[in-house]
Amino acid sequence: MTRLHELAFSYRLIRDLPGARMEPAPSRQTPGIFFAEVQPTPVSHPELLIWSPEAAKLLDLPPVLDLEEIQLAAEVFSGNRLLPGCRPYATRYGGHQFGNWAGQLGDGRAHTLGEVVNARGESYEIQLKGAGTTPYSRGADGRAVLRSSLREFLCSEAIFHLGIPTSRALCCVTTGDQVVRDMFYDGNPRPEPGAITTRLAPTFLRLGHFEILAAREENELLGKVVATAIQLHFPVLAAKHGLSENSSITDDLLVDWLDDVSTRTADLMVEWQRVGFVHGVMNTDNLSILGITIDYGPYGWLDDYDPEWTPNTTDAERRRYRFGHQPSIALWNLSRFGSALLPLASDSKAMIPRFEQVLERYRQRFGSRYLAMRARKIGFEIHASEDFPESVQTLLHQLDDLLVAVETDMTLFYRLLSKTMALAPQDSRGWLAAISECFYVEVLPSDVETQWLTWFDRATPLWRSDLALPEGSTDPLQGRSSLMDSVNPFFTLRNYLVQEALDELAEGRRGRMDELMAALKSPYADSAETRPFFRKRPDWARTRAGCSALSCSS
Ligand code: AMP
Ligand code: MG
Repeated sequence: MTRLHELAFSYRLIRDLPGARMEPAPSRQTPGIFFAEVQPTPVSHPELLIWSPEAAKLLDLPPVLDLEEIQLAAEVFSGNRLLPGCRPYATRYGGHQFGNWAGQLGDGRAHTLGEVVNARGESYEIQLKGAGTTPYSRGADGRAVLRSSLREFLCSEAIFHLGIPTSRALCCVTTGDQVVRDMFYDGNPRPEPGAITTRLAPTFLRLGHFEILAAREENELLGKVVATAIQLHFPVLAAKHGLSENSSITDDLLVDWLDDVSTRTADLMVEWQRVGFVHGVMNTDNLSILGITIDYGPYGWLDDYDPEWTPNTTDAERRRYRFGHQPSIALWNLSRFGSALLPLASDSKAMIPRFEQVLERYRQRFGSRYLAMRARKIGFEIHASEDFPESVQTLLHQLDDLLVAVETDMTLFYRLLSKTMALAPQDSRGWLAAISECFYVEVLPSDVETQWLTWFDRATPLWRSDLALPEGSTDPLQGRSSLMDSVNPFFTLRNYLVQEALDELAEGRRGRMDELMAALKSPYADSAETRPFFRKRPDWARTRAGCSALSCSS
């Protein structure tokens, strides 16, 4: 176990890359460098709000802190105190925002304290979000409000416990300072409590880190950053292609790397779609090269299943980042990433068809895995490599229509279905009655009811048969029910739940926040911790800000 004051930082990412020591202000373009060495700006009264014992383990830090350590954690993870050997920096990146090239962005409110290697040899970047301005703040304040910080903290940990790749959150510290935000973008800015989230990831490198270098034709630096990223985070590829400090990047390596990043991203998209997570701002600067979920902003979770839904008010009109669009947006982002790598190819024109093949593989991989995932959600164990039974495909198509015919709660539907599976009702009326709690309407319109009954008539013989039966099932319905419980969460971090926790915090109570923290740790279990949250979004939350829609203001 490492004590907090013993945390030892290393700097493998920036060691051989160009950087410069800089004052945070003014915001500026920083051609020719990868990072700016810049100090956090102190806050007035840092207090540790919440600590993740599981994330602490990644750094070998204690799961529970004593009083002295709580004090020190507040100082260190607000940026007020730098531990010996700590040299914070902010990195330069660019990105496509809402489909348009936005130029240089960069860590405008993120300071990387350094990397920490744990006893298992795993390395994590430690990053403070909200610890003040950097050269990349673009005139903004470098701060974060408590509401967005707690949302990031809880959601990172919730996504992790769902088994989905993500950055982690170590802790959240309130700053004692107010931050002014115009939450509704309606010309009424008001002060809100500020906070800083400490987040961890093997790296926070994103697609935009490469895009900015290509856009500015800094090809030599682009090559260096690509080589560093591959050496540190894609060791299998580096070994396969004999990438060493003195060797150059080959065309084959570029193709393999784009393929690896695409594969991870495709798999991540399957996972987001599985649980009903909507990222909300899938700009290229918010997509990780590791295929992990990063940059939690105006994200949301589907209550009623609606592929058209986006939580982000900034995107309300065009709905670029709506739930059903996420997989194709990820592909669009990957094509931008591919373009950014082209300057490194020996013949960029000749490279284009090879990159296009990679993107085509993304489509195929996502397509087959998405179908297999959907099949598992309704109890059929079909592997992505197998032929997909026509009958299951038809069931899924019909289900797509049914889930949007009337508002249907996604989480409740799948779990009530698996529960019903274990009860094995006699007829389709019995099945429909057993799941009826998932509908937001009191009474189903008769045509929708008929469609559901027909669907159950079609599905139940398949469920009772041995078609795509989960391995080891003795009883088909029981076997399918267990499979479904392992892929359909019982608990998701519904938008209104975090809002309730924030409302309580504003009154000095932390009960709801702690209850959510306990529930999110076993999201597939029907347990004392999760059961209170197994219910539909209440009516009051339908239209309330923070529950139904979120602005980017954070
Ligand atoms: P986001 O949409 O949150 O991923 O942020 C896009 C860009 O804006 C990134 O470069 C952020 O660092 C920057 N940014 C967002 N909020 C702030 C802020 N309050 N102060 C400085 N930079 C910010
Ligand atoms: Mg971002």
